[in-house]
Amino acid sequence: MIPSVTLNDGAKMPIVGLGTWKADPGQVTEAVKVAISVGYRHIDGAYVYQNEKDVGAGIRAMIDEGVVKREDLFIVSKLWCTFHVPSLVRGACEKTLSDLNLDYLDLYLMHSPIGIKPGEDIFPVDEEGQVVPDGSSFLDTWEAMEKLVDAGLVKTIGISNFNKDQIEAVLNKPGLKYKPATNQVECHPYLTQEKLINYCHSKGISVTAYSPLGSPARPWATSDEPSLLEDPVIKAIADKYNKTAAQVLIRFPIQRNLIVIPKSATPPRIKDNFQVLDFELSEDDMKTMLSLNRNWRGFAQKWADKHKDFPLNAEY
Ligand code: NDP
Repeated sequence: MIPSVTLNDGAKMPIVGLGTWKADPGQVTEAVKVAISVGYRHIDGAYVYQNEKDVGAGIRAMIDEGVVKREDLFIVSKLWCTFHVPSLVRGACEKTLSDLNLDYLDLYLMHSPIGIKPGEDIFPVDEEGQVVPDGSSFLDTWEAMEKLVDAGLVKTIGISNFNKDQIEAVLNKPGLKYKPATNQVECHPYLTQEKLINYCHSKGISVTAYSPLGSPARPWATSDEPSLLEDPVIKAIADKYNKTAAQVLIRFPIQRNLIVIPKSATPPRIKDNFQVLDFELSEDDMKTMLSLNRNWRGFAQKWADKHKDFPLNAEY
């Protein structure tokens, strides 16, 4: 049984989930099947990953084969930014449910505070390469997401890529019905997010760490950027425990009471990435890993840095 974090609505979220961004549609069905068969119970997806039908096929196969029951799984998806206008929120969620072939989601996140112009194009940009805003307020989007809980389409709602002020705005929204259960943000030893995590935890909001391995396959990576999986300090710690660098990087957020969602579409890695519950990093090694922080982001989201709701200009 994979341990879980209890969310502020009482739901239990397994502490390790399978990430699915950039998981090729031709591989992700098998990846999900392998993950569930080795013990993963949490799958992190999103409309914008454009592979939800294939993710859903993997989930369905494991349910049909009797490996797992729907209620034993924790399935996450995200409302993409082009659906922030409140009248579009329910349709977006229904599309994801239909692609996944599920009746409900365990958790639905607002993928980002940034609202983008609705339409066929999931990433409309202007001549400067900046996303085209939709003029919406993420507070209105949140209210529309609350209705999805009431309608039984989703059990729990949360946010992603929100900074402290934006979270505070949601918490202070007049008439707030449901608090965000989690904030899913980039987090690893080069971006330890201590202030944001402390703030979220102080408000009863869990934190989910994305790109725990530093997202080595992000398409915009350049050769001069640091690599967590190759970092000599991480490798030395891994050797000490007879573990891989990836396993140590996945264990690190677990010991910070975070939820973590490493992505792999490679079966042996999917298995290895789950072997993180049988060892414990010492306090000194945790401190050493925290000290690697350099506020480096794999997801600097430059394409939105002129948007009124761009989250990454704030201190945290
Ligand atoms: P990760 O840090 O999880 O790294 C994934 C990459 O590492 C893949 O290329 C994978 O390759 C490789 N990898 C996985 N395991 C190992 C291993 N054991 N040894 C060596 N290489 C390995 O990056 P992501 O950016 O994908 O983040 C994880 C998940 O977080 C996403 O998939 C998505 O679900 C979520 N996310 C959410 C965002 C948001 O805005 N809310 C933004 C970014 C991510 P391979 O698949 O070939 O094995």
